Amino acid sequence: MKIGLSRIPFEGCRLEEEESAAALDLETEEVKFRGPVKIRADVSKITNALSVNLDVEALMHTRCGRCLEEFDTPLRKRLSLNYSVGRQEREIDLGPDIREEIILGYPIKPLCRADCRGLCPECGKNLNEGECDC
Ligand SMILES: [Zn+2]
Ligand SMILES: [Zn+2]
Repeated sequence: MKIGLSRIPFEGCRLEEEESAAALDLETEEVKFRGPVKIRADVSKITNALSVNLDVEALMHTRCGRCLEEFDTPLRKRLSLNYSVGRQEREIDLGPDIREEIILGYPIKPLCRADCRGLCPECGKNLNEGECDC
């Protein structure tokens, strides 16, 4: 998401944009996305500083760390970013900062649900689907 500095009115503004996870470079081996990443930004500029409050929403697709099933989980993140703006600067690209904040927030061991029972260590059966014979 790029913000053109000359377009921000004195009283600030709200910008909304959808970007693909690929454009933001959010996908990893374990984490994919379904559909676009929705970004809402409340932007204000004071002389040489830009402050942005962001609300980011997306549908993440990943694999459960316990039962190894793939599942979708909503991702929602609020961030505040601040930039100092040089006299010559025309636009600011928020993409790298948004990317970093989102990727840092990825769960190390995602769970398909809080009470996921995982796999039987003996036979490997997914215990969410029922008991095994072990
Ligand atoms: Zn699970
Ligand atoms: Zn078993």
